Amino acid sequence: MLPVVALVGRPNVGKSTLFNRLTQSRDALVADFPGLTRDRQYGQGHYEEYKFVVVDTGGIHGKEEGLDLMMARQSLQAVDEADVVLFLVDARDGITAADEFIADYLRKQNKKIHLVVNKVDGIDGNAASADFFSLGLGEIWQIAAAHGRGVTQLLQATLDPLANEFPDMLASEEQAEATELTEADAEAEIARLQAQPIKLAIIGRPNVGKSTLTNRILGEERVVVFDMPGTTRDSVYIPMEREGREYVLIDTAGVRRRGRIDMAVEKYSVVKTLQAIEGANVVILVIDARETISDQDLNLLGFVLNAGRSVVIAVNKWDGLDNDAREWIKTELDRRLGFVDFARLHFISALHGTNVGHLFESVQEAYASATQRVSTAQLTRIMESAQDEHQPPLVRGRRVKLKFAHAGGYNPPLIVVHGNQVTDLPNSYKRYLINYFRRSLKLMGTPIKVEFREGK
Ligand code: GDP
Ligand code: GDP
Repeated sequence: MLPVVALVGRPNVGKSTLFNRLTQSRDALVADFPGLTRDRQYGQGHYEEYKFVVVDTGGIHGKEEGLDLMMARQSLQAVDEADVVLFLVDARDGITAADEFIADYLRKQNKKIHLVVNKVDGIDGNAASADFFSLGLGEIWQIAAAHGRGVTQLLQATLDPLANEFPDMLASEEQAEATELTEADAEAEIARLQAQPIKLAIIGRPNVGKSTLTNRILGEERVVVFDMPGTTRDSVYIPMEREGREYVLIDTAGVRRRGRIDMAVEKYSVVKTLQAIEGANVVILVIDARETISDQDLNLLGFVLNAGRSVVIAVNKWDGLDNDAREWIKTELDRRLGFVDFARLHFISALHGTNVGHLFESVQEAYASATQRVSTAQLTRIMESAQDEHQPPLVRGRRVKLKFAHAGGYNPPLIVVHGNQVTDLPNSYKRYLINYFRRSLKLMGTPIKVEFREGK
């Protein structure tokens, strides 16, 4: 489990700027989902060796009505569930009524809060910050999120105290993976991954049918339930077996906790969902056919892919739709999900059980792809044909030369490309390579990551 850092503040104080700074992946690692990088609400944060979850709560100004009020409530819920809150204010504007509204709310929470005065670039930060002491939130951090100033100190103060409580936040695994695995190590790693139960999370917005699907799956299986005691952000872990394969179902809908009869909707928790994704090998993203796909669905999908998890998409409530509606929904999904064409789509009815079995075929396929052995020879061959078809561009007058590629890890597959000046390759060419690898390897259901390394 990773700690959750929530960014809170009124609109325009610089939350998304800080969010992007915290979540941008290390230069070398490029994920191939350019369609998903804008307006994300959740992301995996990196700082030195730490990994954490960042939630951008969107702007709250205290005068919300209607739909905005609902969104503001959801933001405040994210505050409830966070381990640390970064409360951003704008050095140039001084205190506003909205800042006071948010501060009032935060003071009543039993939370670790850092008051962050942003945009101190080019002005006297101390003078600008003095104003904000009256919010009564203690120490003040001065930053310029746009330029990175002060962010390191803020992160250190925010994350260091969490390290004991959250051992998982040490991100050493990825670094360890990036070395070339020996044949024997790779085989052993894959054997280990393939023998363990597949950790499977069922996620989605409220009301898309997660509990119905979970009950449908469990109804057919013998189950042992570990109901983890605790807060709303804890999921229930359910070991199960299906056709000889072991799984651990990570139930975000809380089906088991509330029993099968009482179907009252449990409070949806973004943080629980994010933690479930972190803990899973494969994720079933459930969406509601009647609403095609919403920005919130895409946000969740983006988080899944950026976290490197495999994904299968279940388009639920497919029952009772006429052919015209079905055609239209399919076209719409093709259009919006084009960038994730490696994920299998299943049209299901959790209510009637239609096609639920096929979901598991794709879950197995996705996990097999995520843990498939790819040799250095194979990867280097693919890299060479990519290079033959499209020469890398000149960088500072010199042709970039790709030399070889090897696997650096699995689940998600990590490919390390070595060569001269490869880190200077433009993103467009990096993306071309990533897509070329994906197409050539025919990996279904799993994102892949490619890292570029100088020399050798
Ligand atoms: P949000 O609505 O809280 O997410 O705010 P944004 O991140 O969208 O930022 C709002 C505006 O403030 C944008 O025009 C940013 O470029 C600008 N901004 C953000 N951080 C800084 C900063 O550190 N210094 C300055 N001068 N401008 C900033
Ligand atoms: P959750 O909040 O995602 O766990 O959603 P639920 O499983 O509680 O379902 C929300 C509503 O959608 C309930 O009224 C379900 O009966 C209904 N529902 C779930 N799956 C289906 C389905 O496949 N078809 C139809 N027509 N309704 C469904």
